[in-house]
Amino acid sequence: MPSLARLQRIVQDVNTAASLEEMLRMISSQVQDVMAVDVCSIYLMDSGQEELVLMHTLGLDVASVGHIRMPLGDGLVGFVGEQQQLLNVEDAPRHPKFHFFPEAQEQDIHAFLGVPVIHYRKLVGVLVVQQREVRRFDDEDEAFLVTIAAHLSGALNDAIGSGKVAELLKTSKKTNNFVNGIVGATGVGIGWVVAAGSSLSFKDVEDLCSLDPVAELALFDQAVEKVREQLVQGQQQMAGTPGDVQAIFDAYRMILDSDDLQRAIRDRIKAGSIAPAALKVVIDEHAAIFEAMEDLYFRARGEDIRDIGLRLLRLLVEPDAVEVSYDRPTILVGNVVGVSDIAQVPHGQLAGIVCKQGSALSHTAILASALGIPAVMGVGELPLRKLIGKSAIIDGYQGRVHFQPSTALRAEFIRLARQDSEFDKSLEKLRDLPAETLDGFRVNMLVNTGLLSDISPGLQRGAEGVGLYRTEIPFMVHESFPTEEEQFRVYREVLRQFHPRPVTMRTLDIGGDKPLPYFPVQEDNPYLGWRGIRFTLDHPEIFLGQIRAMLRANEGLNNLKIMLPMVSSVDEVDSFFELLRKAMKALNNEGLKIEKPPVGIMVEVPATMFLLDYMGWRLDFVSIGTNDLTQYLLAVDRNNQSVASLFSRLHPSVVRALHYITEQSYKNGLEVSLCGELAADPAAVLLLLGMGVKSFSMNAHSLPRIKHVVRSVSRLQAEGLVANALRMQSETEIRLMLNKALENAGLEEHLARSGKISNKAESAK
Ligand code: PEP
Ligand code: MG
Repeated sequence: MPSLARLQRIVQDVNTAASLEEMLRMISSQVQDVMAVDVCSIYLMDSGQEELVLMHTLGLDVASVGHIRMPLGDGLVGFVGEQQQLLNVEDAPRHPKFHFFPEAQEQDIHAFLGVPVIHYRKLVGVLVVQQREVRRFDDEDEAFLVTIAAHLSGALNDAIGSGKVAELLKTSKKTNNFVNGIVGATGVGIGWVVAAGSSLSFKDVEDLCSLDPVAELALFDQAVEKVREQLVQGQQQMAGTPGDVQAIFDAYRMILDSDDLQRAIRDRIKAGSIAPAALKVVIDEHAAIFEAMEDLYFRARGEDIRDIGLRLLRLLVEPDAVEVSYDRPTILVGNVVGVSDIAQVPHGQLAGIVCKQGSALSHTAILASALGIPAVMGVGELPLRKLIGKSAIIDGYQGRVHFQPSTALRAEFIRLARQDSEFDKSLEKLRDLPAETLDGFRVNMLVNTGLLSDISPGLQRGAEGVGLYRTEIPFMVHESFPTEEEQFRVYREVLRQFHPRPVTMRTLDIGGDKPLPYFPVQEDNPYLGWRGIRFTLDHPEIFLGQIRAMLRANEGLNNLKIMLPMVSSVDEVDSFFELLRKAMKALNNEGLKIEKPPVGIMVEVPATMFLLDYMGWRLDFVSIGTNDLTQYLLAVDRNNQSVASLFSRLHPSVVRALHYITEQSYKNGLEVSLCGELAADPAAVLLLLGMGVKSFSMNAHSLPRIKHVVRSVSRLQAEGLVANALRMQSETEIRLMLNKALENAGLEEHLARSGKISNKAESAK
């Protein structure tokens, strides 16, 4: 039992506090200290609202201050207030009045003791202490808390009367802070911010002499061991990701265990350098050797050496730095969030990713999509230090991140995310039903993929094949141009897993925002530059290797279709066929039985729309790439946040272009599919059905929803919508009509995909 003197000191201290905030801080810290409890929180009456509001806490998430509110009678705190009586509960979550606030982070807290703070019969607030374990607070605890509450009631009442509570609430009340970026991966993620990477740099290391080389050597050895462990753990976390991602970890381990590197560092330490200084010099020397090499593959190894060096440095300089803990849902925020950052977070704890830089097609975004983690890219500068440990919500549908959201906003997102997943569950029964309109128009539901780990989600959701296999992805997660053999193995696996369903493999589409780390190209206008087929035709040695790998992978399976990206002339198509013939001839001479696969092109450069008359006899199919087609038609960079609002997916000109392309393609005997993001937009799908598009290719997650849309409308009705849309002059007008049609068809839930999830949540601000 604390002494009377201690009690008096607390009261005296509190009375000298310069502000209400300071007073609350003093009360909670002293009470926490004296009672040795895990949590001490103070709730005060917000008289305007007739409810108790959390004003200060030690032990719960501070982000919930000003947000957790309880009307009298609600939750344990509201119950104490209403009854004006002490409540001592050994296991709070089991109490019938218990109300769980996820933002408070109190899931593992059991014992609860709350006393009302009453001044002249008037309820001023509630003082609460909590403990992780299940236990009953004893009589002494009760007596102490009641006494302290009685002593402080006057001071707290004065604070309320003088308007200080309202003032403090005003400053602590978060306006919903949010930043906008670009959608990297869809979905809703709710968690707490953890910084990805470190701000440490070799520049900060001074070249000092050590007094104890033996101790320095031991430190270095410990750091090596620790980094080795981290890499093994990272690789385990990523179990199930493609071999290419795994290979990144193998490469890092090889560098770490390199005899040359370790010997050079040890020699310097033995000669008297402190370990960080020895590390700095050797890492710099070794990285520089690689960076000076002609071969791009070796140059990239320089970066890896520096990365490993920084990991070691962190452990040498900050050996006691608290390891980041991932014990609650984590939102990784960083300049760039790397594959190894993602791998550090235990399975199931990664709630989202936010990158200051990066595009929708960056490594990170692609990996996030494959792992089903919502991601927002390119949000620009953020006060990261201030945000660490704070709560956040990722709205991966809108490309928006809310920091320290209000209780109402958070509750709305939790509700919507749950609704979203329940809705997806309810669609599981559609898996084996045909994607057929009410009047019998049958379409193919295909999946877009690029990672091996994407295969099973697509198949599980009933994909009838792959409409777009982005071959640049295996190239991007590689350390150098993959060999024909390496490509063969990956392609064979994809074809085999989907067999007998068709797999449309697109030839390498690098450039634009998809640079290869080991083949940097400097261009002023990369989107108008050396992209897709322009690059591969200029590098026949690379192109031929890829074509050969595809043809070999298809031997005996015959479910391959080849598609060419960024085509803007018939010459490009003809040049491809020359290479195809050459590859087939060589392979047949090598004794393989190679069949010519169907060949098609992406229609994504507007010029190609007007060449379809010449494509019919050359090709088997076209696939409309609305991501690029829209960017080039509207002259709007698809990844530039500043013009994101102009990227109008159903701009009247885009709708007219789509109509024209489908008409021209059918006239020329070409099958038409669509593999841009538009295929996953329910409103747009109505129009595309009306235009007669027969194949829709999208991310695996959207397949059941779009199938549901297809099965709920008639082709005839969709044709009517197209006729109307072609007369309209703005996207707003077109969307209004389509949203109404979705509602009439009983498809209100699908409006969520067009942003309604976020709009509803936003109104909860
Ligand atoms: C497109 O441009 O619509 C497309 C599907 O290709 P990517 O997004 O890979 O450029
Ligand atoms: Mg494209």
